[in-house]
Amino acid sequence: MRLGLDIGGTKMEAAILATHSGRDEVLARERVPTQREEGFASVYKRMVQLISTVLNQNGTSISDLDGIGIGLPGAINPQTQQMLNGNTAIFVGQDLPALLSHDLEFSGSIAVANDANCFALAEALLGVGLRHAQELGTTPEHLTSIGVILGTGVGGGLIYKGRALEGPHGGAGEIGHTQLDPGGPKCFCGRQGCAETFLSGKGMETWYADRFGEKLFAMQIFDRAEMLEKKALEAVQIYRRYLDQFTLNLINFFDPDFLVFGGGVSLQPAIYQGLEERVWKQTFIPDTRPRIYQNTLGDSAGVIGAALLIP
Ligand SMILES: [Zn+2]
Repeated sequence: MRLGLDIGGTKMEAAILATHSGRDEVLARERVPTQREEGFASVYKRMVQLISTVLNQNGTSISDLDGIGIGLPGAINPQTQQMLNGNTAIFVGQDLPALLSHDLEFSGSIAVANDANCFALAEALLGVGLRHAQELGTTPEHLTSIGVILGTGVGGGLIYKGRALEGPHGGAGEIGHTQLDPGGPKCFCGRQGCAETFLSGKGMETWYADRFGEKLFAMQIFDRAEMLEKKALEAVQIYRRYLDQFTLNLINFFDPDFLVFGGGVSLQPAIYQGLEERVWKQTFIPDTRPRIYQNTLGDSAGVIGAALLIP
């Protein structure tokens, strides 16, 4: 039995995952607000409480667990398992494995990974990857894929044969900060025209306001495009052009079997229209036709992926 913990800026979730006759099943789960403004000590206390709650729900004792996997919203140093950066700064430099094994008196393994890696891993092994593998007559562990988060920011996870690549410094899959236009909008990372500045919900809202002089949420822009409003239609066209470029770069760089999109913007059907056809025509290796999917696990991908960090 494995316990997954998905810690986000706004909510945290814990779930227990068990394998029954070769299939992974979620036995118990619970979600609480993170309330990061209260600081690390109080968030950590609620995290420990959350772990006991799911264990109790399932009638499991901590010693029954093979391990605890944790997804955090930032890059993780693979040696120290500590978060290096990210928008929820209270976790930076905290040694969660040491704290939790001490406070829970837990001797099993505790692994920490970037939340986008957890998303990509869950979708690769238990989400769209499972269906894709079945269609090919293989198992998900044989496939290579990219999980792409199009949310408040843009992030990603690279899955190679069933494992998330972390890189020697924890920076593998930081695809949101690959540049699409050196003259593009300023990014918080210090560069200009990163994929995130065009393709994240927030990025889209900013360039839409600059270009069309109106402040709208990304969702409102897509809604208006559906009602054939001229400016919104043009904005969706612009979004698609950047997404084409970005997706094509990812395919040429990693040669995946499939890509899977997550995050708020991935819920918009308009972003998928014609995407595969346009991208397939332009891949560097002829006839490379990776499928591009919307995620199937929804909100649960993070917590399931965290549990899957434990082998
Ligand atoms: Zn950037």
